[in-house]
Amino acid sequence: MAKRNPPPNPILPEHRELFDAYIRKWQKLFNLSDWRVVKKPGRASKNSMAEMLEIDTTNRLARYRLGENFGIEPVTPESLESAAIHEMSHLRLHELSEIAVREGMYNDAVLAAEHAVITVIEPLLMELAKRRSAEATDAEAPESYGGTT
Ligand SMILES: [Zn+2]
Repeated sequence: MAKRNPPPNPILPEHRELFDAYIRKWQKLFNLSDWRVVKKPGRASKNSMAEMLEIDTTNRLARYRLGENFGIEPVTPESLESAAIHEMSHLRLHELSEIAVREGMYNDAVLAAEHAVITVIEPLLMELAKRRSAEATDAEAPESYGGTT
């Protein structure tokens, strides 16, 4: 059997730690602090950067997994935070899916609609996160404002 090339942009242990931190950050920002959002052992299904699974609204418990690699997307703090925003958005919006399930109306169209929302808000929230962290960096280094009074 021919030896395969290593997958592009593998997810390393330090990336996993950073992803966990972003999950906790967005759990707070999305007002989901009453949930236990825990890492599930193992890797996300093939071709998934990350996944949120076993969402249990009654017990406020959800599990997530990261994949093996990000495919063609470089693994950076930004791409990891985007993935965390994406997965936490699924959790934030889960109640809507549950209502659809309860009403017997859940289907692929509901999931597609959920993704359409997430695809729009994910880059916007990422932009906001970048601005906030730039502001925080400025606040820590007031001398960078120069000599104006
Ligand atoms: Zn998704």
